[in-house]
Amino acid sequence: MNAPDKAFSHDARIAEAADKIESKVVAWRRDFHENPELGNREVRTAKIVADHLRKLGFDEVTEKVAHTGVVGTLKGGKPGPVVALRADMDALPVTEEVDVPFKSRVRTEWNGQQCGVMHACGHDAHTSILMGVAEILAGMRSEIAGTVRFIFQPAEETPPIGEDGGAKMMVEQGCLENPDVGAIFGLHITSVFPTGKIGYRPGPFMASADDFRVFVRGTQTHAAMPWRGTDPIVVTSQIVLGLQTIVSRQMNITKEPSVVTVGVFQGGVRHNIIPDEAKLEGTIRTFDEGQREEIHGHVKRIAEMIAEAGGAKARVHIHRWYDVTVNHPELTEWSVPSLKRIAGDENVLFVDKVCGSEDFSFYQKAVPGFFFFIGCTPPEKDAGTAAPNHSPRFYVDEACLKQGVKLLSGLALDWLAANA
Ligand SMILES: [Zn+2]
Ligand SMILES: [Zn+2]
Repeated sequence: MNAPDKAFSHDARIAEAADKIESKVVAWRRDFHENPELGNREVRTAKIVADHLRKLGFDEVTEKVAHTGVVGTLKGGKPGPVVALRADMDALPVTEEVDVPFKSRVRTEWNGQQCGVMHACGHDAHTSILMGVAEILAGMRSEIAGTVRFIFQPAEETPPIGEDGGAKMMVEQGCLENPDVGAIFGLHITSVFPTGKIGYRPGPFMASADDFRVFVRGTQTHAAMPWRGTDPIVVTSQIVLGLQTIVSRQMNITKEPSVVTVGVFQGGVRHNIIPDEAKLEGTIRTFDEGQREEIHGHVKRIAEMIAEAGGAKARVHIHRWYDVTVNHPELTEWSVPSLKRIAGDENVLFVDKVCGSEDFSFYQKAVPGFFFFIGCTPPEKDAGTAAPNHSPRFYVDEACLKQGVKLLSGLALDWLAANA
């Protein structure tokens, strides 16, 4: 790969087209925002996307990939390699508190509870940005040497319980093949940065995410006569403390950081009864697949052994969600000059790792991939105290949309030109 050492001739074209299309991208985003859909339920969103790609004259538009995903292929006028761009389309079970005219009023039942549905992670912005990129690149297709694959993915926030879906399933269903994709780019908006700022990092960037459940079986007895049974509350308390020694005592923290958190501790129904069973639930975050396996082993061993020492029995279930989001080092290094050229040197920042996770990691396991953040907090507000993604008060400065359109368009064309 060659570094882009000159201002590419397509920059001016993209900038001009992005100016023209901005109001459309904003309108799409507001429409998606007002009509959010949960993971694997993005039926309306997917139809709008697919109709748009067909209207632009895409060579291929495939719907219902991984349930509700849309994959579009745009062949340029000249032969060349294949680059992919990805957006996610799903919203969250969050009741919106932002006072905008296009506020979501959609309601749903989630895990038996009534709540709102909101684009609280900004995937409405990602979908609209990629629709804008599709329109710009479709307008330039005769000059493009190569193919651009557009991936609109469902269920990034994990599918509903009992269902499969998301990036892993998109890859399994061939979204990176026919023709084979050489590199993939994706972005995420974040309120942690002001609009205009871009955050990137080579190598491990976002954490792996797994959850665990521990069921501790004791023997129920009268709370006044604990010696007549086995108290799972005390044993489970010891397990909580034992789990906290994994990162602090057993992991090489100079290699990568990691987190083990217990978020649920349940047991008992009445003050004077020692119950039969207590339950823990928690999350494990790592930045290294080896450490991830190690921690899984420690969680299991510590829970089982502490329970055994107390005369109880522990059953441990660990569910693997997302792998570590690892930015391909050379592709990242290659991409940074493009970001700087498009957004300005001073706006492109090398940032810390993020303990959140992303299923973009599954694309990166299949092909070299680069994932980065763009800020969406209005510059006059303090990004340090802005409501985070997933908050009912998550607010998007729509000026970030045009920047996203320019960045993804530019990266795609730069990469095709450098790899022709
Ligand atoms: Zn999210
Ligand atoms: Zn997200």
